[in-house]
Amino acid sequence: MRIAIQKFGGTSLATSDLRLRVCDIISATRSKGLSVVVVVSAIGRKQNPYATDTFINLVKEINSYPSPREMDLIMSCGEVISGVLLSNQLCATGIETKFLTGGQAGIITDGNYGSAHILYVNPRNVLNCLENNIVPVIAGFQGMGENGELTTLGRGGSDTTASALGVALNAEVVDIFTDVEGVMTADPRIVENARLLDAITYNEICQLARDGAKVVHPRAIEIAMQGAIPLRVRSTFSDSLGTLVTNHLNGSNETVRIIRDCLITGITYTSNIAQIRLNMGIIQEQKGISLKVFKSLADVDISVDFINVQPEHIMFTVPSDSALKATKVLQDSGFSPDVTLECAKVAVVGAAMTGIPGVMAKVVEALSEKDIPILQSGDSYTNIWCLVKREHMEDAVKVLHDKFELGKKI
Ligand code: ADP
Ligand code: ASP
Ligand code: MG
Repeated sequence: MRIAIQKFGGTSLATSDLRLRVCDIISATRSKGLSVVVVVSAIGRKQNPYATDTFINLVKEINSYPSPREMDLIMSCGEVISGVLLSNQLCATGIETKFLTGGQAGIITDGNYGSAHILYVNPRNVLNCLENNIVPVIAGFQGMGENGELTTLGRGGSDTTASALGVALNAEVVDIFTDVEGVMTADPRIVENARLLDAITYNEICQLARDGAKVVHPRAIEIAMQGAIPLRVRSTFSDSLGTLVTNHLNGSNETVRIIRDCLITGITYTSNIAQIRLNMGIIQEQKGISLKVFKSLADVDISVDFINVQPEHIMFTVPSDSALKATKVLQDSGFSPDVTLECAKVAVVGAAMTGIPGVMAKVVEALSEKDIPILQSGDSYTNIWCLVKREHMEDAVKVLHDKFELGKKI
């Protein structure tokens, strides 16, 4: 059996006209001889009555620290609503369908509410549908712990459901349908001349996604890569083929073109970050200061990032919503932290930049031409990160995209 997994994001399902368009896409794929497994996200984004954020806010208006188990139950509602609607709409077009929750679709996870990992997939119910010519419509983003409790897979996790099913069913392709043309050299909402990448490696998209290009969830890519299942990121609103994520392309006459990592693949950003800086001037003689700082934060479950420990200071970032708590904890431990609340991390991502001189020089040149101060920087084999003030984020992304000429056709 030739199987295609087709996952539709929230904006692709937002109106009944769009859901009709989605039905057409599914029908067209079936008429090419493929059995389709549909995965859905919750309808719409923030503000939409059935979006995940709306359900979260409903509870948080009553209780700022609700139980993670109950949060997962309410967060999973959006996918149930959109799945049942789409299933009925497909049915109205004459296609036999069956809606399945994540657990019913055999997505079995660990018990980590809010960001559960898939342990295994038991595709029995899904296969049963396909064998009977029924299109299974599956709620993305949710699974079931081995104890039968409902779990969610982390924000944006419907992509992960699609990839995991793709691997379990040995699908020909996992299509991620969204509201942009595919994976681009930067978020097209910020950079007007961002270029569509028609084929990229798993490695490249993984780096982009980990650094904030939320077009596909990083876990979804890791799972597809491990199972060597091709992913295609494409638009619900156009017929273009989007971006194929794979390590090779079949050419003519049985030739196979190996896709290489680009020097610079794209520019990404993450906002909602606060920087914390502790000057060690007077206290540097004391032993174990760093340990005391990081342990006190770990004890209250605050995760730190962008860590820089030097004899003169300790710098790191925390998510904005943990900044107040982190400041209080550090003050209670006798420190006087300097906190910059509204920051963003901008990254130049390129899986082949290792050992190439001049990349950082260009980054500094671009940002200083626009008078954008770098609050902190860091790098790895595949990325250079700069922390900037939130108000400079959009300009930083644009100027770096221009400096590396990523909008030009190659
Ligand atoms: P969906 O609801 O379909 O899952 P998401 O909002 O999760 O959609 O992801 C799509 C969004 O990702 C786009 O609307 C776009 O603004 C954003 N995005 C960020 N970086 C990129 C990029 N490099 N290429 C394409 N889209 C990007
Ligand atoms: N609805 C979930 C979220 O908003 C999952 C997803 O969209 O993929 O995070
Ligand atoms: Mg998404």
